Amino acid sequence: MAKITLRKLAHTYEGSKEQALKPLNHVWEDGAAYALLGPSGCGKSTLLNIISGLLEPSEGQILFDDQDVTASGTVERNIAQVFQFPVVYDTMTVGENLAFPLKNRGMDQDKIEKRVTEIAKMIDLSEQLDSRASGLSADLQQKISLGRGMVREDVNAILFDEPLTVIDPAMKTDLRIQLKELHHEFGHTMIYVTHDQTEALTFADQVVVMNQGEVLQIGTPTELFERPAHTFVGHFIGSPGMNIVEGKLVNNHIIINDTLCNILSGYDDVDNAQIGIRPEYCALSASEGLPITINRVEDLGKHKVVRAIYEKSDINIILREGEEIEADMNHVVFDSEKIGIFKNDWRVEHD
Ligand code: ADP
Ligand code: MG
Repeated sequence: MAKITLRKLAHTYEGSKEQALKPLNHVWEDGAAYALLGPSGCGKSTLLNIISGLLEPSEGQILFDDQDVTASGTVERNIAQVFQFPVVYDTMTVGENLAFPLKNRGMDQDKIEKRVTEIAKMIDLSEQLDSRASGLSADLQQKISLGRGMVREDVNAILFDEPLTVIDPAMKTDLRIQLKELHHEFGHTMIYVTHDQTEALTFADQVVVMNQGEVLQIGTPTELFERPAHTFVGHFIGSPGMNIVEGKLVNNHIIINDTLCNILSGYDDVDNAQIGIRPEYCALSASEGLPITINRVEDLGKHKVVRAIYEKSDINIILREGEEIEADMNHVVFDSEKIGIFKNDWRVEHD
């Protein structure tokens, strides 16, 4: 296994004017579980394929431990990669598919059998070991791909590119948990690409949030939730995402239009500030705070979401358990402790 270092890495596809990946420096610690999270087209697969060696970056270097592997292929890098759609050998059985990477490395037959049995059990394919891979459904075939990606214990890293796309929703949660268990058991460096925040947040120790070719923040799920570095992270993480209202900060007073909303401490003055507050940290009020128009209330079972609007900004409020909406509640108040201040979309730090 290896520590993976990206140095001034960037990529522009041939014939394209735009960078698919903007310059990036990062160290992927040996043995950690990472998720690469961002919307479709933001550059996740580009970054993953550069790490695996399928794609050579147009700029920068990639190191495994202290060795420069920028020009090496996937085999030399000793990486396993699982793709979005199943890649199986049709003429082989499920068991033979799983055994293939081990056979290739010349492992003893009894060791192979032991390992294949173990992996099959883990991803619930034990019953199908002797079936031909070609006759199976897409999600079973994708499980074979997952199993083959995980069967070798001596790889430097395992990379997953949206591996649960074709998996039946009911099976997804189980597989996600099994992947996480596998990580705990074997301690491989794992990088898991997804556009689904639930997948990212449940799988990873560290989540790398990308948008438009740029890495905006790398942090634990809690850090991304409590202290998003960028308004996009605020929006993208959470359900609903963070509310953003334009205002200013004068002597630590948050003023939105002419309303004094909250008093903070330790900030310099900020004109054109973006006030960020999560729906979890907003409350309805009859008289205090910002006047809002409530459009609707959604009952999601575990809690209710109030969909409201202030001027042109959407304001979502998650009601606490047992909290009721009275007819005269047409204001929203923010919890001062939980407010984030942003300028030009980036978080403003304070003392
Ligand atoms: P993601 O995996 O996050 O959906 P990609 O890494 O596939 O995003 O794509 C990032 C950007 O690079 C997109 O704008 C996409 O259109 C472009 N792109 C991807 N592959 C190629 C390619 N082979 N040639 C040219 N442009 C590409
Ligand atoms: Mg992709």
